[in-house]
Amino acid sequence: MNNSIALEIKNVGKTYKLQDSNSLKALDDITFNVKQGEIFGLLGPNGAGKSTLINILGGTVIKSQGLVNVWGFDLDLNPRQVRASIGIVPQEVNVDPFFTPKKLLDIQAGMYGVAKKDRITDKILELTSLTDKADSYMRSLSGGMRRRLLLAKAMVHQPPILILDEPTAGVDVDLRQKLLENVKELNNQGVTIILTTHYLQEAEELCDRIAIINHGKIVALDKTENLLSEIHLKKIKFKVKNFKNIGDKLDDHLKIEYLKNNQISIKYDKTISNVEDIIFKIKEKGLEIEDIMTEDADLEDVFIKLTKNL
Ligand code: ADP
Ligand code: MG
Repeated sequence: MNNSIALEIKNVGKTYKLQDSNSLKALDDITFNVKQGEIFGLLGPNGAGKSTLINILGGTVIKSQGLVNVWGFDLDLNPRQVRASIGIVPQEVNVDPFFTPKKLLDIQAGMYGVAKKDRITDKILELTSLTDKADSYMRSLSGGMRRRLLLAKAMVHQPPILILDEPTAGVDVDLRQKLLENVKELNNQGVTIILTTHYLQEAEELCDRIAIINHGKIVALDKTENLLSEIHLKKIKFKVKNFKNIGDKLDDHLKIEYLKNNQISIKYDKTISNVEDIIFKIKEKGLEIEDIMTEDADLEDVFIKLTKNL
Protein backbone atom coordinates (compact mmCIF):
# COMPACT_ATOMS: atom_id res chain seq x y z
CA MET A 1 0.00 0.00 0.00
CA ASN A 2 1.12 3.54 -0.75
CA ASN A 3 2.77 5.12 2.31
CA SER A 4 0.78 8.28 2.15
CA ILE A 5 -2.53 6.49 2.42
CA ALA A 6 -4.09 6.32 5.86
CA LEU A 7 -7.20 4.36 5.05
CA GLU A 8 -8.23 2.23 2.13
CA ILE A 9 -11.79 1.08 1.62
CA LYS A 10 -12.26 -1.20 -1.36
CA ASN A 11 -15.54 -2.57 -2.67
CA VAL A 12 -16.99 -2.66 0.81
CA GLY A 13 -20.57 -3.79 1.20
CA LYS A 14 -22.83 -4.43 4.14
CA THR A 15 -26.15 -6.19 4.13
CA TYR A 16 -27.99 -6.30 7.43
CA LYS A 17 -30.09 -9.39 7.97
CA LEU A 18 -33.52 -8.43 9.18
CA GLN A 19 -36.37 -10.52 10.53
CA ASP A 20 -38.32 -12.91 8.30
CA SER A 21 -35.33 -13.41 6.01
CA ASN A 22 -35.50 -9.80 4.82
CA SER A 23 -32.30 -7.90 4.40
CA LEU A 24 -31.15 -4.34 3.97
CA LYS A 25 -28.22 -3.26 1.86
CA ALA A 26 -26.71 -0.44 3.91
CA LEU A 27 -23.44 -0.19 1.95
CA ASP A 28 -23.08 -1.04 -1.70
CA ASP A 29 -19.61 -1.36 -3.21
CA ILE A 30 -17.93 1.54 -1.44
CA THR A 31 -14.40 2.42 -2.57
CA PHE A 32 -12.23 5.34 -1.47
CA ASN A 33 -8.92 6.25 0.13
CA VAL A 34 -8.08 8.75 2.80
CA LYS A 35 -4.63 10.32 2.69
CA GLN A 36 -2.42 10.82 5.69
CA GLY A 37 -2.90 14.23 7.23
CA GLU A 38 -6.23 14.84 5.56
CA ILE A 39 -9.53 15.91 6.99
CA PHE A 40 -11.90 13.72 5.04
CA GLY A 41 -15.64 14.15 5.21
CA LEU A 42 -18.22 11.47 4.67
CA LEU A 43 -21.32 13.44 3.99
CA GLY A 44 -24.81 12.11 3.58
CA PRO A 45 -28.39 12.25 4.82
CA ASN A 46 -29.66 10.15 7.70
CA GLY A 47 -29.74 6.49 6.82
CA ALA A 48 -27.11 6.86 4.07
CA GLY A 49 -24.80 4.30 5.68
CA LYS A 50 -22.23 6.54 7.36
CA SER A 51 -22.34 4.95 10.80
CA THR A 52 -22.36 1.49 9.28
CA LEU A 53 -19.05 2.26 7.61
CA ILE A 54 -17.56 3.80 10.75
CA ASN A 55 -18.73 0.85 12.81
CA ILE A 56 -17.06 -1.54 10.38
CA LEU A 57 -13.80 0.33 11.01
CA GLY A 58 -14.43 0.19 14.73
CA GLY A 59 -15.13 -3.53 14.64
CA THR A 60 -18.69 -3.38 15.95
CA VAL A 61 -20.22 -4.17 12.54
CA ILE A 62 -18.89 -6.98 10.35
CA LYS A 63 -18.70 -6.10 6.66
CA SER A 64 -20.31 -8.40 4.13
CA GLN A 65 -17.82 -7.74 1.35
CA GLY A 66 -14.67 -5.92 0.47
CA LEU A 67 -11.33 -4.93 1.90
CA VAL A 68 -10.44 -2.45 4.59
CA ASN A 69 -6.88 -1.39 5.24
CA VAL A 70 -6.08 0.98 8.07
CA TRP A 71 -2.60 2.48 8.41
CA GLY A 72 -1.19 -0.44 6.44
CA PHE A 73 -3.08 -3.13 8.35
CA ASP A 74 -5.72 -5.35 6.83
CA LEU A 75 -8.83 -5.38 9.00
CA ASP A 76 -9.44 -9.10 8.44
CA LEU A 77 -5.86 -10.15 9.14
CA ASN A 78 -4.73 -7.63 11.77
CA PRO A 79 -7.79 -6.39 13.65
CA ARG A 80 -5.75 -5.50 16.73
CA GLN A 81 -3.33 -3.29 14.84
CA VAL A 82 -6.26 -1.68 13.11
CA ARG A 83 -7.85 -0.96 16.47
CA ALA A 84 -4.62 0.54 17.75
CA SER A 85 -4.38 2.83 14.72
CA ILE A 86 -7.74 4.48 15.06
CA GLY A 87 -9.67 6.35 17.68
CA ILE A 88 -13.39 6.43 17.15
CA VAL A 89 -15.76 9.00 18.52
CA PRO A 90 -19.15 7.32 18.24
CA GLN A 91 -22.39 8.98 17.28
CA GLU A 92 -24.15 8.03 20.48
CA VAL A 93 -23.12 9.95 23.57
CA ASN A 94 -23.12 7.67 26.53
CA VAL A 95 -20.54 8.19 29.18
CA ASP A 96 -20.28 6.34 32.41
CA PRO A 97 -21.85 8.60 35.05
CA PHE A 98 -19.70 7.34 37.91
CA PHE A 99 -16.29 8.59 36.86
CA THR A 100 -14.73 12.00 36.49
CA PRO A 101 -13.26 12.81 33.06
CA LYS A 102 -9.75 12.29 34.36
CA LYS A 103 -10.57 8.91 35.83
CA LEU A 104 -12.41 7.84 32.71
CA LEU A 105 -9.43 8.67 30.52
CA ASP A 106 -7.16 6.70 32.83
CA ILE A 107 -9.40 3.67 32.62
CA GLN A 108 -9.53 3.95 28.86
CA ALA A 109 -5.74 4.22 28.66
CA GLY A 110 -5.51 1.12 30.79
CA MET A 111 -7.83 -0.71 28.41
CA TYR A 112 -5.53 0.16 25.53
CA GLY A 113 -2.50 -0.97 27.49
CA VAL A 114 -0.93 2.49 27.62
CA ALA A 115 1.73 2.45 30.37
CA LYS A 116 1.23 4.99 33.19
CA LYS A 117 4.35 6.92 32.23
CA ASP A 118 3.17 7.20 28.62
CA ARG A 119 -0.23 8.59 29.44
CA ILE A 120 -0.96 12.10 28.29
CA THR A 121 -4.21 12.59 30.15
CA ASP A 122 -3.60 16.22 31.06
CA LYS A 123 -2.61 17.12 27.55
CA ILE A 124 -5.71 15.50 26.14
CA LEU A 125 -7.91 17.30 28.65
CA GLU A 126 -6.33 20.53 27.62
CA LEU A 127 -6.72 19.83 23.92
CA THR A 128 -10.39 19.13 24.36
CA SER A 129 -10.81 22.15 26.65
CA LEU A 130 -11.83 20.01 29.60
CA THR A 131 -9.05 20.84 32.03
CA ASP A 132 -11.48 22.76 34.25
CA LYS A 133 -13.72 19.74 34.42
CA ALA A 134 -11.03 17.11 34.97
CA ASP A 135 -12.30 16.22 38.42
CA SER A 136 -15.95 17.09 38.07
CA TYR A 137 -18.81 14.68 38.20
CA MET A 138 -20.12 13.60 34.86
CA ARG A 139 -23.58 14.95 35.57
CA SER A 140 -22.19 18.47 35.75
CA LEU A 141 -20.93 18.19 32.16
CA SER A 142 -23.00 19.68 29.36
CA GLY A 143 -23.81 17.75 26.21
CA GLY A 144 -21.01 19.45 24.35
CA MET A 145 -18.51 18.65 27.07
CA ARG A 146 -19.55 15.02 27.02
CA ARG A 147 -18.95 14.92 23.32
CA ARG A 148 -15.52 16.44 23.79
CA LEU A 149 -14.90 13.84 26.44
CA LEU A 150 -15.67 11.13 23.88
CA LEU A 151 -13.13 12.79 21.63
CA ALA A 152 -10.64 12.79 24.49
CA LYS A 153 -11.35 9.11 25.12
CA ALA A 154 -10.65 8.26 21.50
CA MET A 155 -7.24 9.89 21.81
CA VAL A 156 -5.72 8.16 24.83
CA HIS A 157 -3.70 5.70 22.75
CA GLN A 158 -2.61 8.51 20.41
CA PRO A 159 -3.86 6.92 17.22
CA PRO A 160 -2.72 8.44 13.93
CA ILE A 161 -6.31 8.42 12.68
CA LEU A 162 -9.33 9.87 14.43
CA ILE A 163 -12.80 9.08 13.23
CA LEU A 164 -15.73 11.16 14.35
CA ASP A 165 -19.27 10.06 13.67
CA GLU A 166 -21.54 13.12 13.56
CA PRO A 167 -19.40 14.98 16.09
CA THR A 168 -21.62 17.99 16.45
CA ALA A 169 -25.09 16.47 16.27
CA GLY A 170 -27.12 17.93 19.10
CA VAL A 171 -24.36 20.26 20.26
CA ASP A 172 -25.10 23.95 20.69
CA VAL A 173 -23.43 26.57 18.52
CA ASP A 174 -20.63 27.69 20.85
CA LEU A 175 -19.58 24.22 21.79
CA ARG A 176 -19.85 23.10 18.23
CA GLN A 177 -17.32 25.74 17.27
CA LYS A 178 -15.06 24.67 20.10
CA LEU A 179 -15.24 21.06 19.03
CA LEU A 180 -14.43 21.91 15.44
CA GLU A 181 -11.46 23.96 16.63
CA ASN A 182 -10.27 20.95 18.60
CA VAL A 183 -10.51 18.85 15.49
CA LYS A 184 -8.56 21.37 13.42
CA GLU A 185 -5.91 21.64 16.10
CA LEU A 186 -5.48 17.87 16.16
CA ASN A 187 -5.18 17.84 12.41
CA ASN A 188 -2.53 20.56 12.59
CA GLN A 189 -0.60 18.28 14.87
CA GLY A 190 -0.65 15.63 12.15
CA VAL A 191 -3.65 13.50 13.01
CA THR A 192 -5.64 12.23 10.03
CA ILE A 193 -9.30 13.02 10.55
CA ILE A 194 -12.32 11.29 9.11
CA LEU A 195 -15.69 12.67 10.03
CA THR A 196 -19.23 11.95 9.05
CA THR A 197 -21.84 14.60 9.04
CA HIS A 198 -25.15 15.50 7.56
CA TYR A 199 -24.36 19.17 8.16
CA LEU A 200 -23.14 20.42 4.86
CA GLN A 201 -21.66 23.56 6.23
CA GLU A 202 -19.52 21.60 8.60
CA ALA A 203 -18.02 19.52 5.83
CA GLU A 204 -17.48 22.62 3.73
CA GLU A 205 -15.75 24.41 6.58
CA LEU A 206 -13.48 21.60 7.67
CA CYS A 207 -12.78 19.02 5.02
CA ASP A 208 -10.04 18.83 2.43
CA ARG A 209 -11.99 16.23 0.49
CA ILE A 210 -15.54 15.05 0.71
CA ALA A 211 -17.30 11.87 -0.29
CA ILE A 212 -21.03 12.16 -0.59
CA ILE A 213 -22.86 8.99 0.28
CA ASN A 214 -26.51 8.28 -0.37
CA HIS A 215 -28.40 5.02 -0.04
CA GLY A 216 -25.16 3.18 0.66
CA LYS A 217 -23.38 4.41 -2.46
CA ILE A 218 -20.74 7.06 -3.04
CA VAL A 219 -22.31 9.58 -5.40
CA ALA A 220 -19.46 12.09 -5.45
CA LEU A 221 -15.91 12.32 -4.20
CA ASP A 222 -13.60 15.23 -4.70
CA LYS A 223 -11.70 18.08 -3.13
CA THR A 224 -14.18 20.34 -1.44
CA GLU A 225 -13.54 23.26 -3.79
CA ASN A 226 -13.84 21.06 -6.88
CA LEU A 227 -17.08 19.63 -5.67
CA LEU A 228 -18.39 23.14 -5.40
CA SER A 229 -17.14 24.40 -8.74
CA GLU A 230 -18.00 21.28 -10.69
CA ILE A 231 -21.59 21.97 -10.13
CA HIS A 232 -22.91 24.82 -12.17
CA LEU A 233 -25.21 26.18 -9.57
CA LYS A 234 -25.08 29.80 -8.65
CA LYS A 235 -27.15 31.93 -6.41
CA ILE A 236 -28.43 35.43 -6.91
CA LYS A 237 -30.01 37.58 -4.25
CA PHE A 238 -32.22 40.58 -4.72
CA LYS A 239 -33.13 43.23 -2.24
CA VAL A 240 -36.48 44.58 -3.32
CA LYS A 241 -38.42 47.73 -2.48
CA ASN A 242 -41.83 46.11 -2.52
CA PHE A 243 -41.33 42.74 -0.88
CA LYS A 244 -44.22 40.42 -1.65
CA ASN A 245 -44.91 36.82 -2.37
CA ILE A 246 -44.61 35.99 -6.06
CA GLY A 247 -44.88 32.23 -5.69
CA ASP A 248 -42.16 29.66 -5.16
CA LYS A 249 -40.82 29.52 -8.73
CA LEU A 250 -39.91 32.01 -11.42
CA ASP A 251 -39.92 29.22 -14.00
CA ASP A 252 -39.26 25.47 -14.05
CA HIS A 253 -35.58 25.98 -13.25
CA LEU A 254 -35.72 28.92 -10.91
CA LYS A 255 -36.77 28.37 -7.34
CA ILE A 256 -37.47 31.39 -5.17
CA GLU A 257 -36.48 31.56 -1.54
CA TYR A 258 -37.72 34.37 0.69
CA LEU A 259 -35.19 35.82 3.10
CA LYS A 260 -35.17 38.47 5.80
CA ASN A 261 -34.69 42.19 5.11
CA ASN A 262 -36.78 42.26 1.93
CA GLN A 263 -34.48 39.88 0.17
CA ILE A 264 -35.22 36.99 -2.10
CA SER A 265 -32.74 34.44 -3.30
CA ILE A 266 -32.80 32.47 -6.52
CA LYS A 267 -30.67 29.46 -7.34
CA TYR A 268 -29.89 28.86 -10.95
CA ASP A 269 -27.85 26.61 -13.13
CA LYS A 270 -25.57 28.81 -15.19
CA THR A 271 -25.79 26.39 -18.11
CA ILE A 272 -29.57 26.87 -18.23
CA SER A 273 -30.39 30.38 -17.05
CA ASN A 274 -28.62 33.69 -17.03
CA VAL A 275 -28.74 36.71 -14.78
CA GLU A 276 -30.33 38.99 -17.32
CA ASP A 277 -33.18 36.61 -17.82
CA ILE A 278 -33.71 36.29 -14.09
CA ILE A 279 -33.76 40.03 -13.59
CA PHE A 280 -36.27 40.36 -16.39
CA LYS A 281 -38.54 37.78 -14.80
CA ILE A 282 -38.31 39.41 -11.39
CA LYS A 283 -39.34 42.75 -12.81
CA GLU A 284 -42.11 41.07 -14.77
CA LYS A 285 -43.55 39.93 -11.46
CA GLY A 286 -43.76 43.54 -10.39
CA LEU A 287 -40.85 43.60 -7.97
CA GLU A 288 -38.68 46.69 -7.80
CA ILE A 289 -35.05 45.76 -7.43
CA GLU A 290 -32.96 47.80 -5.01
CA ASP A 291 -29.81 45.72 -4.97
CA ILE A 292 -28.40 42.57 -6.54
CA MET A 293 -25.87 40.17 -5.00
CA THR A 294 -24.52 36.97 -6.53
CA GLU A 295 -22.75 34.13 -4.84
CA ASP A 296 -21.51 30.71 -5.77
CA ALA A 297 -23.49 27.75 -4.68
CA ASP A 298 -22.66 26.22 -1.36
CA LEU A 299 -22.42 22.55 -0.66
CA GLU A 300 -26.06 22.35 0.18
CA ASP A 301 -26.93 23.02 -3.43
CA VAL A 302 -24.44 20.47 -4.62
CA PHE A 303 -25.77 17.98 -2.18
CA ILE A 304 -29.39 18.45 -3.13
CA LYS A 305 -28.49 18.15 -6.78
CA LEU A 306 -26.52 14.98 -6.28
CA THR A 307 -28.97 13.19 -4.04
CA LYS A 308 -32.19 14.34 -5.69
CA ASN A 309 -32.35 11.88 -8.55
CA LEU A 310 -31.22 8.78 -6.76
P1 ADP B 1 -26.29 6.98 8.79
O1 ADP B 1 -25.27 6.85 9.86
O2 ADP B 1 -25.77 7.53 7.51
O3 ADP B 1 -27.49 7.73 9.25
P2 ADP B 1 -26.63 4.12 9.18
O4 ADP B 1 -25.36 3.48 8.79
O5 ADP B 1 -26.89 4.29 10.63
O6 ADP B 1 -26.80 5.50 8.40
O7 ADP B 1 -27.83 3.29 8.56
C1 ADP B 1 -27.86 2.88 7.21
C2 ADP B 1 -29.04 1.99 6.99
O8 ADP B 1 -28.84 0.75 7.67
C3 ADP B 1 -30.34 2.55 7.53
O9 ADP B 1 -31.38 2.17 6.66
C4 ADP B 1 -30.47 1.88 8.88
O10 ADP B 1 -31.82 1.77 9.24
C5 ADP B 1 -29.85 0.52 8.64
N1 ADP B 1 -29.23 -0.05 9.82
C6 ADP B 1 -28.28 0.51 10.58
N2 ADP B 1 -27.90 -0.31 11.58
C7 ADP B 1 -28.64 -1.42 11.45
C8 ADP B 1 -28.73 -2.66 12.17
N3 ADP B 1 -27.95 -2.90 13.23
N4 ADP B 1 -29.61 -3.59 11.74
C9 ADP B 1 -30.39 -3.36 10.67
N5 ADP B 1 -30.35 -2.25 9.93
C10 ADP B 1 -29.50 -1.27 10.31
MG1 MG C 1 -25.11 7.73 11.68
